[in-house]
Amino acid sequence: MMKTDIKMVKNFIGDAWVDSRGTEVEVVPNPATGEAIAHVPLSTVEDVNDAVKAAAEAYPEWSATPVPARTKPLFKYLELLEENKEELAKIITLENGKTLTDARGEVRRGIEAVELATSTPSMMMGDALPNIATGIDGSIWRYSLGVVGGITPFNFPMMIPAWMFPLAIACGNTFVLKTSERTPLLAEKLVDYFYQAGFPKGILNLVQGGKDVVNRMLEHPDIEAISFVGSEPVARHVYKTGTANGKRVQALAGAKNHSVVMPDCNLEKTVQGIIGSAFGSSGERCMATSVVAVPDEYADTFLEKFVEETKKLDVGDGRFEANFVGPLIRDSHKERVLGYVDKGVEEGAELLVDGREKGEKVSKEDGGYYVGATIFDKVNPDMKIWQDEIFAPVLSVVRVKDLQEAIDLTNKSKFANGAVIYTTNGKHAQTFRNQIDAGMVGINVNVPAPMAFFAFAGNKASFFGDLGTNGKDGVQFYTRKKVVTERWF
Ligand code: NAD
Repeated sequence: MMKTDIKMVKNFIGDAWVDSRGTEVEVVPNPATGEAIAHVPLSTVEDVNDAVKAAAEAYPEWSATPVPARTKPLFKYLELLEENKEELAKIITLENGKTLTDARGEVRRGIEAVELATSTPSMMMGDALPNIATGIDGSIWRYSLGVVGGITPFNFPMMIPAWMFPLAIACGNTFVLKTSERTPLLAEKLVDYFYQAGFPKGILNLVQGGKDVVNRMLEHPDIEAISFVGSEPVARHVYKTGTANGKRVQALAGAKNHSVVMPDCNLEKTVQGIIGSAFGSSGERCMATSVVAVPDEYADTFLEKFVEETKKLDVGDGRFEANFVGPLIRDSHKERVLGYVDKGVEEGAELLVDGREKGEKVSKEDGGYYVGATIFDKVNPDMKIWQDEIFAPVLSVVRVKDLQEAIDLTNKSKFANGAVIYTTNGKHAQTFRNQIDAGMVGINVNVPAPMAFFAFAGNKASFFGDLGTNGKDGVQFYTRKKVVTERWF
């Protein structure tokens, strides 16, 4: 039964917060306790149509607004986000479950993406070359696209929307945002502060809901481009359907990120780094390390320290600083993860740290969805736990002969989002950088998520499209070019 004292999130369409026309509603639980914190409507085709109409109506005036005037309110927006960063972090912890420390980090990365958008006047510049033939000049001009749609996952409720709408809007587009129905609360704040910053109404619209909203956006004739971030099967569907409907699409997808630990690494820093990357945010990061390849000769030394430190990690409600591993997003996801742990044991991997008991204890006490940090040793590429994205604090260790075997194995993964090497040897680092197939590479950097002024995207099944989010790629994605060749008599 629906409790009536729990708020129902709304859509923002045109100039106001409005109720969805949808009659289907989902409960949003706090993953740390299982308590209902909100209701989210599954918005309808009509809701999407209204949002696109509002964005399309706002487009002519907004795209004609000079670029400095389009970016100016972003400075006020940044001020508001900075002033309220603790409130934003708390909302992320409440609806997503990640620890407050991780949530604060996410808010910072989101703010950096807004900062990037303030440099649109220089980033959007074209190119020119006079005298390309006698009396003829050539130049490239960038223009906005129209209405852009953004579809985001549950795991970064602030950072990922912030990759999309600030830059798209600064480039002169108007926007329809659909955030994850599992984390609908932070999006409301992003929209609220956006309009408090002084932007004209209608240029950013928010539609809450699930796949029906996505599918309508993919078909809507007035949406020119779609930015998507989420799981691999949905990313494939979004890319296929969106492009079949003539849209420009960037679809960032799932991952299985590998780290290679070389015997010449700094052991202390490597262990702490991999703990942060594999178990931080409960492993629910597209850049989380989930496989470690380590040469045989060094595996026992590395594992002794790694296992010892992992066993110290506390599991529990992310609001409390002592807890390193927070809950997973939903009970159903927890069950899926436990299934993978069973599968790993069945497949013959050696369970060195079993996070099930720790997780179960907290789940019973707090009512949330916990699995503790888990380490498998002697994993091989034929195992499902090596192949699939588990999206949880479950890490597989693969013993290899040497660096070359580690690289060759990693390159067999169907995903290619991030990859990291831990080494003090420049030649190893150089070989890894040159041979590894990953969109984002770390050398002694635990989570090599690029800063916003660089592009963010993976390779292979981790990315469908040509231009990543952020950086120059982002500006190219949100603009179309005209090449002008001119002669005057
Ligand atoms: P998801 O694919 O379940 O959901 C993403 C979005 O798609 C949501 O807005 C959701 O409502 C919508 N959606 C879900 N199922 C759909 C369907 N059948 N048809 C149409 N739309 C649908 O992803 P998630 O579980 O929210 O997020 C986690 C996933 O996102 C992981 O796989 C993770 O690796 C990936 N991710 C990738 C990156 C990256 O940069 N590559 C970043 C963050 C997350």
